[in-house]
Amino acid sequence: MSEDCIFCSIVDGEIPSRTVYEDDTVLAFLDANPLAPGHTLVIPKTHYERLNDVPAATASELYARLHELVPAVEDAADAPASTVAFNNGEAAGQEVPHVHAHVVPRTADDGGGPIHGVFGSRPDLSDDELDALADAIRDNQ
Ligand code: 5GP
Ligand code: ZN
Repeated sequence: MSEDCIFCSIVDGEIPSRTVYEDDTVLAFLDANPLAPGHTLVIPKTHYERLNDVPAATASELYARLHELVPAVEDAADAPASTVAFNNGEAAGQEVPHVHAHVVPRTADDGGGPIHGVFGSRPDLSDDELDALADAIRDNQ
């Protein structure tokens, strides 16, 4: 529990939410300001700020629940697809500092576009830069 965290307050029942799933580890509820009907948030009940802060066992339970919830959300919203995303860190647009997956039902004509649409242009990277990035990612795990 983190003081002043909206999602911890939802876990504690201090702030009401439309719960769609709950167990000892994971809570899922409708987003209060949905991007599409059925927009659902899936969170670990324990307060972790970012994806990489979540212990592996909890991360596995979170993913397992996403696996069940994504088709349930799509079916409930009568949507053929969904965008499933984490805003991971403030610079990426994360406003609530309690890690959460967004499950947003999608339709071909909703005008949302792919997740690539959040970027205006793509970097022009040389082979050396790509090699260095791949090396660094391999080394940093
Ligand atoms: P973020 O920008 O941090 O990835 O997304 C936070 C999400 O939480 C937003 O989509 C916002 O609508 C949702 N949200 C913020 N406060 C509340 C709340 O009190 N209840 C619910 N159900 N959703 C909230
Ligand atoms: Zn929290």
